[in-house]
Amino acid sequence: METPERSIIRKLLKETKPGDLGSRVHLKGWVRTKRGNKNIAFIAVNDGTIIHNIQVVAQVNDFEEDLLKQVTTGACIAVTGILVESPGQEQPVEVQAQQIEILGTSDPETYPLQKKGHSLEFLREIAHLRPRTNTFGAIFRIRHALSFAIHKFFNDKGFYYIHSPIITGSDAEGAGAMFRVSTLDAIQPPLTPEGKVDYARDFFGKETKLTVSGQLEAELGALALSGVYTFGPTFRAENSNTPRHLAEFWMIEPEMAFYDIHDNMDLAEEFLKYLIRYALENCLDDLQFLNKMYDNGLIERLEHITDVDFERLSYTKAIDILKESGEEFEFPVDWGLDLQAEHERYLVEKHFGKPVILTDYPIEIKAFYMKQNEDGKTVRAMDVLFPKIGEIIGGSQREEVYEKLLERIQQLDIPEKDVWWYLDTRKFGTAPHSGFGLGFERMVLFVTGMGNIRDVIPFPRTPQNAEF
Ligand code: ATP
Ligand code: MN
Repeated sequence: METPERSIIRKLLKETKPGDLGSRVHLKGWVRTKRGNKNIAFIAVNDGTIIHNIQVVAQVNDFEEDLLKQVTTGACIAVTGILVESPGQEQPVEVQAQQIEILGTSDPETYPLQKKGHSLEFLREIAHLRPRTNTFGAIFRIRHALSFAIHKFFNDKGFYYIHSPIITGSDAEGAGAMFRVSTLDAIQPPLTPEGKVDYARDFFGKETKLTVSGQLEAELGALALSGVYTFGPTFRAENSNTPRHLAEFWMIEPEMAFYDIHDNMDLAEEFLKYLIRYALENCLDDLQFLNKMYDNGLIERLEHITDVDFERLSYTKAIDILKESGEEFEFPVDWGLDLQAEHERYLVEKHFGKPVILTDYPIEIKAFYMKQNEDGKTVRAMDVLFPKIGEIIGGSQREEVYEKLLERIQQLDIPEKDVWWYLDTRKFGTAPHSGFGLGFERMVLFVTGMGNIRDVIPFPRTPQNAEF
């Protein structure tokens, strides 16, 4: 008999119609468990397309003893059999095995995932195998769905996806410490007569770094195509070992000509709600699993956020609230100081009980490109703060007036040779424009309810860690 085409397990579990029962099916996947007795074996198989396993039932007498011995946790098998209604409560259908083929054995003595219930810390050490667990399968499916939803949201709005460079010659992005990219000999680099490393002889003829943001390039795009967005990897060489910082993370940076800061806030709020709703509508099985295993307030929190209006207020008002809170903070609160995650979370979780958008920050603590307010003290910045996360989005209206931008660049000693091309946009057809950056992993962290950013990216890059 011919082997039917392979079915993915999600289809079998979710899309089987009454007329499909009794048909022969073929599936492939990894064995999660095998139990039973000397007559019958129940094999739970998972192929990663859905959180649930399909149950394969094998009559022991129908198979070589040697073959069933190799059906162990972690082994990869192909099964052909009859799809039948399952008498068990857990699954709608199961497969009565006619043929089992071992595609890859897995030694039970050494397979690291032989037992259930490993800690997330342990699983980080086996990042090459952790996608085989329910938890990471769920997280990575949700991560995929959110990526897709991001492109869908912007495409439906008529925005264009811009690929900003990963290697940058500009030091001016100012968002954080950078990694150098070089092909010079690390031990004996060529030197200038003054004894400095001679980057003129490096690959690009100048010193180059990994980008910390695609924003400046996105602005060039917006001032030509109206609405654009980037979605790519960004790199920060800061030694911040927190549960919310990675050295390599993905960022979404929309940039819009003709948007002021209010339009910008509206878009950010609509975007975040869209992504959360998309996950609720498309990843419910995975969310229910995470809700049950890790965070029983997760789904409720997600639903709440899609319902409420985000609170919008100025940085100055937020400082007043924090000062009057009577709360003991680790870091000081004073006008002019940057807010720490503890302050952001107080505002969101305790004071307002919903997401908060803070605007009009002191000019000294924000980047050079933000639009200056009339008061001469603040800029049209906007940070979106979320429960459990703190800052999830940072953005602003940009300074579009050439003279003001140049003045700020000079005040901050940013070399004009690094930003002449950026300044050019304010010389030729400048326009009011705005944009923001959403840290993708912070969003995945929020939607999955996980506590550590290392658990929402397949291969986390953090200080002292780049094994896989
Ligand atoms: P933070 O104050 O939390 O360190 P930031 O102000 O340095 O963040 P921005 O430069 O404004 O961050 O970057 C835009 C967004 O990128 C942030 O709102 C956040 O969601 C995300 N982000 C920033 N740094 C990191 C990081 N190291 N790892 C993961 N996401 C990050
Ligand atoms: Mn920020």
